[in-house]
Amino acid sequence: MKRSTLPTILSVLLLAGTAFPATAASDTNGFRVGFATADITPPVGWRRAGGYTEFLSQAGGDPLLAKAIVLSQGPTTVALVGNDLCSVPRELTDRARRRASEKTGIPFANIVITATHTHGGPEYNGTLRDVLHTRALKENNGRDPRESLDYQALLVDRWVEVLAQAHAARQPATLSVVVPQVHGLAHNRRFLMKGGSTGWNPGKLNTNIFRPLGPTDPDLPFVLVRDAASGQPRGALTVFAMHTAIYGAPPFGACYPGHLQTALRRQLNAPDLVSIFAEGCAGDINHIDVASADPQDGDTYPAVVGDKLADAIAQALPFARAVAPGTLALRSTTIHTPVRPLAPADYAAAKHLMENLDRTNAPFLTTVDAWRKMFQHEYWQKHGGKLPQEIQAIRLDRDTALVALPHEVHVELGMAIKAASPFRTTIVVSLANDLDFYVPTRRAFEEGHYEPTTCPLEPGCGERLVEAAIELLNELRR
Ligand SMILES: [Zn+2]
Repeated sequence: MKRSTLPTILSVLLLAGTAFPATAASDTNGFRVGFATADITPPVGWRRAGGYTEFLSQAGGDPLLAKAIVLSQGPTTVALVGNDLCSVPRELTDRARRRASEKTGIPFANIVITATHTHGGPEYNGTLRDVLHTRALKENNGRDPRESLDYQALLVDRWVEVLAQAHAARQPATLSVVVPQVHGLAHNRRFLMKGGSTGWNPGKLNTNIFRPLGPTDPDLPFVLVRDAASGQPRGALTVFAMHTAIYGAPPFGACYPGHLQTALRRQLNAPDLVSIFAEGCAGDINHIDVASADPQDGDTYPAVVGDKLADAIAQALPFARAVAPGTLALRSTTIHTPVRPLAPADYAAAKHLMENLDRTNAPFLTTVDAWRKMFQHEYWQKHGGKLPQEIQAIRLDRDTALVALPHEVHVELGMAIKAASPFRTTIVVSLANDLDFYVPTRRAFEEGHYEPTTCPLEPGCGERLVEAAIELLNELRR
């Protein structure tokens, strides 16, 4: 996927506007589905995401895309937008969902906006961006040379546009679902070291590793949407619990989900297929195989992963189950999770460190700790120490459901939802509508290191998400 073959920067491309002959509802499983895609690549020179320092983008690379699917059955409509971004913040997803809802009639609660978590996206929101942006404004007479346009406003516009276009492009469709398993690609990045300490990405062939501290989730849920009349694949949703953090070069990059789309189009002989990717619960999962010395190069390995996932999907597709008609539904809830206390002096020290990030030589975890305290402080100011967290659950049919969780959730929590779910197939998506931090298990809080250091919430926050999700699933199954 190279930029030259794709539309002009920031132009909107409607991929599903072709008219198909009307099909009686009884001929399909009652679904009407539309897709739309928009380019959301920022200008070159914009800050890059995925680290704790300023890192600027260069020319080349992939276009970054926002891709919407809108799914209706009878009076019920649900929508999901996947984005080649590292994260999406609540403030912007709220704005887009509200506007899209006014424009299309899709209820606010029925819209999910997610990020693929590509670390090849822009740094455009959150603590680090705010610190760098504020400083740039101060140093350049109110102008940030890295931000030549209001990207946040542009993103909201694009999300509203793709939702409206996908809504307008709905056509009779059939859905099928299959969950192949992929072993050996994803690895838990937290380890018990021989001395008893917790290791985090401790490096290939590190002889001090005793064992991983958690499992991996091999499930690769795949939902395929075909045109009801022709049977031609139109779009798909793939979910995998592995960090989209392989790609790391300066040009913007979609990482393995970009390659997955290319490979699926080839495998399914569907050159216009809109492949939407959402990260599963991969908070503690990445691609680094510490047991092997083989290089997993940021430039070449994303394509290897994209191809392997597409191969697994293609092999499993003959066993896909048709999604049954008549029961599309969505339930959502908001829980209020306690934020850890923060002393004013600790916040002041953190603020000082963040504002002088490139002038200090703070150890990694000290920086992460300060970074977290910035929004921990904000949560106390804005929410009085109880962070609202929205959870959505979509029933596709009596056997299939999808759960959308905010933030980066640890793998065991996602697996706990699946294990307790009354549905045969439960797909769990993270980074939905908001991403500021990791959501570790209670045990991971005790073990410490990177992910718990990012989390401003009290231990038990992850288990509360699981409980709330299971409650929604049980409601939908009744
Ligand atoms: Zn992450």
